[in-house]
Amino acid sequence: MTGDGFELSRCDACQARFLPTDGPCPRCGSTRVRGYAAAPLGTVLAATELTNPPEGRPAPHRLALVELPEAVRLLAIIDGPLPVRGTVVSVRRNGDVYHARSEPGS
Ligand SMILES: [Zn+2]
Repeated sequence: MTGDGFELSRCDACQARFLPTDGPCPRCGSTRVRGYAAAPLGTVLAATELTNPPEGRPAPHRLALVELPEAVRLLAIIDGPLPVRGTVVSVRRNGDVYHARSEPGS
């Protein structure tokens, strides 16, 4: 999925919310999993800057642990300056990687 849409998955059996996966529910193993559109906004729980990033990544490489509504968490590459804890960021998916950017005015 590309563009403005941001999708999460929900388990119909146990109501768990999680990042989209091709497999069954990571909590209960049910295959009654379906995607739903979610707001692509989250809050930074922690952020770090790697001065020696993995091969192929530009330096400095900034990562943040982002919490989305409903307690879904993901690790995102930060585009732009390193955010502080509590910063509201917009999140987008790029293939298997998530990117986050500080929302203007937050
Ligand atoms: Zn489940």
